[in-house]
Amino acid sequence: MGLSKLEQAYRHITGIQRNYSDWPSTFGPCYNDECTNSARGCGLCANCHEKKLAEFVGDELAGKFHAAIKQRSLIVGQIRDLLEDR
Ligand SMILES: [Zn+2]
Repeated sequence: MGLSKLEQAYRHITGIQRNYSDWPSTFGPCYNDECTNSARGCGLCANCHEKKLAEFVGDELAGKFHAAIKQRSLIVGQIRDLLEDR
């Protein structure tokens, strides 16, 4: 038996999150040869994970989720800028 749809979708949820690391991380070319983005650990980039997630939940929810993670990452960056080395 394969993974359930939720389990498969969750791989792309965590895949998107993984591409927005709060700490220094190694990035390289996206695993998808047709994509020119960089991806954490040379896996799939966040955009490719979003497209895969959309196959399960539709473009709107997948886009919303990615945007929220991106926003979270920007806010964490602002918090770090505020507090680092002070
Ligand atoms: Zn990609």
